[in-house]
Amino acid sequence: MLRLPEFERIAWRKGKRAAQRLERLTMAAFVQSAGTVLRVGDVSGHDPGSDVFAIVMTSPSRECRAPSPVDIRAVLERAAAAITLRVELRVESGWTILTTLDPRENMERDIASALERGARERERYEFFSAIGHELRTPLTSIRGYLETLLDDHQTDPQTTRRFLETARREALRMGRLLDGMFEFSLLDLSSEALAAQSCDLESRLLQACEIVRPQAQGRNMRLERDGVAGLIVAIDPDACLQLLVNLLDNAVKYGPDGGVVRVEARAQSDVVIVSVDDDGPGIAVQERESIFGLRVRGAGAATRPGTGIGLAIVKMIAERAGGTVRVMESPLGGARFEVTLLRKASEARAS
Ligand code: ADP
Repeated sequence: MLRLPEFERIAWRKGKRAAQRLERLTMAAFVQSAGTVLRVGDVSGHDPGSDVFAIVMTSPSRECRAPSPVDIRAVLERAAAAITLRVELRVESGWTILTTLDPRENMERDIASALERGARERERYEFFSAIGHELRTPLTSIRGYLETLLDDHQTDPQTTRRFLETARREALRMGRLLDGMFEFSLLDLSSEALAAQSCDLESRLLQACEIVRPQAQGRNMRLERDGVAGLIVAIDPDACLQLLVNLLDNAVKYGPDGGVVRVEARAQSDVVIVSVDDDGPGIAVQERESIFGLRVRGAGAATRPGTGIGLAIVKMIAERAGGTVRVMESPLGGARFEVTLLRKASEARAS
């Protein structure tokens, strides 16, 4: 499925003629690109006036199996690139497996599920290519320092030590990037999967606190936990733990030695609000949106180790589970991260 998300807006703003012209141009690019990649038995189609262009790949490969995801993505990429080139507009794309050969049955649902899958695939691709790019920097730096030490036998012990310390620091940073990458790859981020599960919030809070306790103790910080027992939230248990650990880990990392971190959960009609407070430097108003971006670090973060991945993961998890996350000033003086999750009836089975 390929979709021009701006089609309707253009039709509305510029009128019917502009929309028809855009549709003609898109159709021409679509037909031309599809013509070069489709095989006997495949079909391409478009309903006049709609913003969706569809390809149905039916022809079995030589082994008589359905087309592979790699082939499907290649076809989509090619058609999307041809359309973007012609009409200079963003194209959404994605694919799904049809359960019936009559494409009109469940059409709306199939289009939505294909585009949702496409968006998730792009998100993953962007995430991994961003991490891949980030990994190159520490690797280059480590190699550079080691090669200098191997090549130059005159380096004094102090400089040698400095070089080795830098290489070790960069190796640790690589490790953190890889951790973030694994955390992300282990999560099934499809919205149905995350929100269809449920978990007991109190036990996740307890686990999350146990995970960050050694770091908090190492810095003489007090970890306070308060919550209503028996709250069941609509989220996968692992994803919930991941979200809580990321927030608590940050509160401990950015809070002052001897400070306080407080995590609290309360129910409010059909949602549960979890807040993580600290008495650290807080987050400047102008950064409160941007810090949730992938690889974005705050202005004051330079003195702490980090990669700018943790909050992006928190946001993704919360939103996939149908919830939200935002940051504000904490009554403790630092940052308050507030996550809203959907509440499930307590009789629902939860782990
Ligand atoms: P990282 O901590 O690795 O930099 P995150 O995505 O977890 O990445 O956080 C993004 C940025 O948000 C951090 O760089 C920091 O500037 C800011 N931040 C997150 N949590 C806190 C907090 N509790 N107190 C102050 N700043 C925070």
